[in-house]
Amino acid sequence: MTPAELTGQVRTHIADLADPPCALHASVIAPFVNLRRAALADGFDLVPVSGFRDFARQLAIWNGKFSGAAPLYDESGHPLDAAQLSPPERIGAIVQWSAIPGASRHHWGTDLDLIDRRAVGPGYRVQLTAAEFTPPGPFAPLAQWLESNAARFGFFRPFRGVLSGVQPEPWHFSFAPIAEHARRALTPALLRAALDEAPLLGKEHVLERLDELHARYVASIDWP
Ligand SMILES: [Zn+2]
Repeated sequence: MTPAELTGQVRTHIADLADPPCALHASVIAPFVNLRRAALADGFDLVPVSGFRDFARQLAIWNGKFSGAAPLYDESGHPLDAAQLSPPERIGAIVQWSAIPGASRHHWGTDLDLIDRRAVGPGYRVQLTAAEFTPPGPFAPLAQWLESNAARFGFFRPFRGVLSGVQPEPWHFSFAPIAEHARRALTPALLRAALDEAPLLGKEHVLERLDELHARYVASIDWP
């Protein structure tokens, strides 16, 4: 992947799948379809609620949280009031749940947030919370199935809350053969270049500690 692809600024590496509708790295479509087929055979309607996400979208998520327009949470998932926090405190809260623009694994098209569409009604609003993926949550059976089967198809969970600073995300899976190349290619220098011109709120504080943020939230991931 090129620097622009790695940081989500272009989508030249992305292909669109029609059913279920999602955008993924062109080489991840087939592995995902195989994973989905196996899940279907075992009774799960496995669909992504998020696949590829571009830089502009991640920037909007970041700025929404930083400005207080979108909810901000502490490490236990309790709501925080952004107005009461200094810029470094806001950044510390955001990075536990959301990636810095340019540093999201969703930019690569190798990572997906997965649910079982069959486990909930059509009006259900997916929140992607730990409770949904833990018994008696609706997606707990799928989480267990993925835990046992995803690796056979090349997928793994990068965010288990062990080595990665990101909170555990039992819904987030990554296609290792391509994502590992991307993780190694996305250096702090490359990320810095992507952020330099971006209208990122709190930018000077992010750039000031970018090496540390990169080490903890980009370079460090969890393996099974
Ligand atoms: Zn995700």
